[in-house]
This record gives sequence, C-alpha cells and structure tokens, in this order.
Amino acid sequence: MAPFVFSSELKQATLQALHDRGVAVEDIAELTLFLQKPYVPNLDLERCVHNVEQVLEKREVQNAILTGIELDLLAEKKQLSSPLQQIIEKDESLYGIDEILALSILNLYGSISYTNYGYIDKLKHGILQHLNDKSTGKVHTFLDDLVGAIAAAAAGRIAHRYRSEEEEQQRDSAD
Ligand code: MG
Repeated sequence: MAPFVFSSELKQATLQALHDRGVAVEDIAELTLFLQKPYVPNLDLERCVHNVEQVLEKREVQNAILTGIELDLLAEKKQLSSPLQQIIEKDESLYGIDEILALSILNLYGSISYTNYGYIDKLKHGILQHLNDKSTGKVHTFLDDLVGAIAAAAAGRIAHRYRSEEEEQQRDSAD
C-alpha cells in the first residue's frame, strides 16, 4: 500500500502550485479585501491574508486547488484526451466543471461565500482579470474559479467572525 500523503506535504504542494501559476496569497487577499471592505470597518490586507491562509489550511481546499491546476497544466501541455483537451483549453463556457470544483471550496463557508463568488466572478477584479486574459497562452480554466472561490470563502469567514466580534462588544457594553 502506498504511504498516505502528509497534511504538511499537501499544504506545501498547494502553495507551490499556486506560486508556480503566478498567484500569491496577497493577490487572493486583495480580492477578499475588495469584497469585504464595505462591510467591515478598518479591514486591512493583513487580516485578509490571514483569512486566506486559514482557508488554504483545509484539505478539501488543497485537493480542489491541486486537481484544478493539474488539469489546467495538462491542457496547457496538450496532454488531455479529446474532446476534454479542446474543452478545457478553450475554456468553453458550457463546460461548468471548473465552477463545480470551486463549489467544493464555497461549500465549506456557506451562503456569504456563494454570493461573493458570483459577484467577483462577474467583475473579474484584480488578478482574476489577468487569469482571464486568453492572449497569454496559459490555461487558467480552473484556476480563475479556484482563486475567486478562495477569496470569497475568506470573505465569508471574515463576515462571520466580524459578527461574533460585534456581538461580543454588545454583550460587553451591556454588562
Ligand atoms: Mg473557469
């Protein structure tokens, strides 16, 4: 039996894969900041980076990222079988499995992350604009959705934590 993959190994591979594909944690955090700034006073990039890092700690998220990036890479090298090769390489709009994979991340963080994902996916803010630039010769069919989903998940995480902080403050002032 093959030895199982250690969590630390999986996490390292995920961060490396994102880095190799030109995505920094700060790029994702910048999207989170954009999404959540109107709702959380004094929200800064540092707090968004922390929340993105927490999302990236989850094995389900790591699995989704590694799977999506692998398919992007294989399509880029033209190593997938037909017709999947053409579908992923061309980022066909009716394919939809890239969004489904992103849902596996959003599922962990609830409805706020869903609405944020839809919003950022439409706007193509920040690094998403670069990832959607088809003239680069790179295939980012999965990566753009994964990055949007991580940012949206971190936004959902911040929203829930902010509410808890507010509740605590109200309780304290009522004491
Ligand atoms: Mg896509």
